[in-house]
Amino acid sequence: MEIIDMPTSSTENSVQIKVSKIDKSRIEEVDFNNIPFGKIFSDHMFVVDYKDGQWNDPEIRPFGNLSLSPAISALHYGQAIFEGLKAYKDGSGNVSVFRPLDNHTRFNSSAKRMCMPTLPEGLFMDALNQLLTLDREWVPPVDGCALYIRPVMFATTAEIKVKTSEEFKFAIMTCPVGPYYPKPVRVVIETHFARAMEGGIGYAKAAGNYGAALYPAQQAQERGYDQLIWTDSKEHKYIEESGTMNIMFVIDGKLHTPSLETNTILEGITRDSVIRIAESKGIEVLERRILVEELVDYCRSGECTEAFGVGTAATLASIATIGYNGEDFDLPPIGDDSISTILMDELSNIRTGKIRDEYGWMMPIS
Ligand SMILES: *Cc1c(COP(=O)(O)O)cnc(C)c1O
Repeated sequence: MEIIDMPTSSTENSVQIKVSKIDKSRIEEVDFNNIPFGKIFSDHMFVVDYKDGQWNDPEIRPFGNLSLSPAISALHYGQAIFEGLKAYKDGSGNVSVFRPLDNHTRFNSSAKRMCMPTLPEGLFMDALNQLLTLDREWVPPVDGCALYIRPVMFATTAEIKVKTSEEFKFAIMTCPVGPYYPKPVRVVIETHFARAMEGGIGYAKAAGNYGAALYPAQQAQERGYDQLIWTDSKEHKYIEESGTMNIMFVIDGKLHTPSLETNTILEGITRDSVIRIAESKGIEVLERRILVEELVDYCRSGECTEAFGVGTAATLASIATIGYNGEDFDLPPIGDDSISTILMDELSNIRTGKIRDEYGWMMPIS
């Protein structure tokens, strides 16, 4: 294994990241035209440990297992958070990451809610930049594919006691990925289980939120749906989000999406991007509390013409059917002039450099 010290790119408080390169890349084994989501990892990962009040010895090394005590508090008490973002290749092979600073901000907001240390912006960005420089070949050159980037932080103090950990590990791993949902999805409005409650951790990308969502999602799958639409935990009267995506509806040609005032909805970066693109195209956007009954009426009357989930993993997932109280509402098929197609195309064109990024969303990898 070759060991080199790469000076970090920018900023005053930039750090030395130790780099140990893999002997032989595994990239030859990957078929970029047929990649399962989240199962194939690029050659390298970034790791850094938090101890004695600071982040120490950042390192890029071959992707591989960690050795940890079974007593680490992340496993017992759930101090674990993550992020998800993507890197894209443009036509000339240049690699850029989509809105990484926003993921960094949200990561630190999740960290605060979970009593975990925040990560300095310089460290996050340098780690990302160096990791992707090293593994740039892993960004798929194929349309509709990207390199999914998964930062994660978890508590590593080995002590059986409910209290905040003193030690943490932060890592970044990456996976080349293709489309998440191959075809439009069937979703069902959940009226019994809840994902998040007011005052809880719904707005944080905290691991426990996802563990708790598995059982309700499995129940929905047994009833023939792909995913749930979550509603508020108190009355199940208001629409919140869908699985791990924010949700949007086209009603009478306007874009409607649940507002974020309750702190129970994850503030998606794709959501924000789609809203801004819609506004730039003169589409009226309404961020508001959306009643389940109201949505069902709009589906029944045909005024709701499109529904879709938006998130980094799935990008934009069209919804074909919405189930509620034993009834299924089928939405019209999506065409080239559907609002969701227009928004999705614009977003992919920005990401792959086909049109100018007037928002400053893409961060090029040096
Ligand atoms: C990550 C996530 C989203 C989407 O956020 P993006 O920043 O667009 O990827 C939506 N809902 C939940 C619950 C999530 O975990």
